[in-house]
Amino acid sequence: MSVRVVVIGAGVLGSAVAAGLTRRGAQVTVLEARAPGAGTSSTSVAWVNANNKTPKEYFDLNHAAVWAHHQLPGDWFFPTGNLECALTDEHKEQLEARVGRLIAMGYPVERVTARRALALEPDLVPPPPGTEYVFFPGEAYVQPLRLLGRLLGEARDGGATVECGAEVTAIETSASGAKVTLADGRTFAGDVVVTCAGRWTERVAALAGVTIPMLDPAVSGTVTNGFLVTTAALPARLSRVLTTAALNLRPDGGGRLLLQSLPLDGLARPDAPVPGEVINEILTLLPGVLRGTEGATAERAVVGQRAMPGDGLTVAGFADAGRRIYTVATHSGVTLAPLLMEEVAGEVFGQESALLAPFRPDRFADGTAGPAPTPARRPGQQ
Ligand SMILES: Cc1cc2nc3c(=O)[nH]c(=O)nc-3n(C[C@H](O)[C@H](O)[C@H](O)COP(=O)(O)OP(=O)(O)OC[C@H]3O[C@@H](n4cnc5c(N)ncnc54)[C@H](O)[C@@H]3O)c2cc1C
Repeated sequence: MSVRVVVIGAGVLGSAVAAGLTRRGAQVTVLEARAPGAGTSSTSVAWVNANNKTPKEYFDLNHAAVWAHHQLPGDWFFPTGNLECALTDEHKEQLEARVGRLIAMGYPVERVTARRALALEPDLVPPPPGTEYVFFPGEAYVQPLRLLGRLLGEARDGGATVECGAEVTAIETSASGAKVTLADGRTFAGDVVVTCAGRWTERVAALAGVTIPMLDPAVSGTVTNGFLVTTAALPARLSRVLTTAALNLRPDGGGRLLLQSLPLDGLARPDAPVPGEVINEILTLLPGVLRGTEGATAERAVVGQRAMPGDGLTVAGFADAGRRIYTVATHSGVTLAPLLMEEVAGEVFGQESALLAPFRPDRFADGTAGPAPTPARRPGQQ
């Protein structure tokens, strides 16, 4: 008889894990409290990278994931690289140190001239002489909900059942399996339950008696919250992720651009709309970076809420002694999804992943987890 797995959450990670499990012949039920992509996966820059990921084990995981995306090409995936421009001395110093570290670790990095930068992005406003440009050719961006649809579609083709409006309120384990109960009273049985509940992971894991501390996304001014502004269509050319100290941007389909200003993220409040002044400030930065964007207006402005485990690093592994509950929670979930699809599904079937070994959930129980990440975010991060 095939292994029965209940996956909780249909974000990009739950969808990926469901697809990986059906590839291995599991009988999968996906339980989603709202709708697929209703969580963080719909508010993501979705820049695929390992650019500023530390420590080394976390870099290795993300680096492997970047290449997993290249193995899964499709109309959601834009392997156009990332062009980073450093104007200030502080940014140049950080970039220099990062580039040295990345080259030593075998990450594709090209220092480029202003001329080459303009050939890559003809509408780039030529920054002043002395600006440093680095191109990261292996990086990419995705349309996250299209990726999610592709993964969940594969899971459904593989026989998975997807239940929406299915909020899990109880999880019981026994020697023979696990039982999941929904708010409406329905129950689902499985041999294993995989929690992919994003920023709700602490609450969902606790239903099974498992402790996974997550940074609280309801608290303003933490690394968990960030502004995203989508412009209306613009007559400007942009093919790739473009990063500067003040503004990160990428194409968002139909001539729109997705904008992020990390230095402003400290003002983000998850319980309030994006303030008009913040939208204006972000839009005002745009013509300084890209020509053809004067007078840009916002079509959408949101506060995205990151799923951030307490020490900032991925959590992946069986979380109970009986190996009935497997927990997955991470930031950079869009980057990691195609890799976790294979690695997590393999582990559920008993194939230990060396890449996931440093990220076990029991580090929170035995106190070996490191400190929470600092609120300040730097260029090269998202
Ligand atoms: C501003 C911002 C920028 C980002 N930029 C990037 C980037 O450039 N690159 C990158 O790789 N990542 C980026 N991320 C992170 C990335 O988007 C997330 O890591 C990823 O989307 C998380 O996916 P997930 O499936 O874990 O969570 P989610 O998409 O939140 O999915 C979790 C699902 O679980 C469901 N759920 C919760 N509780 C229950 C329950 N009790 N019962 C049933 N279902 C439940 C929720 O409804 C939700 O649909 C960014 C995030 C933000 C906020």
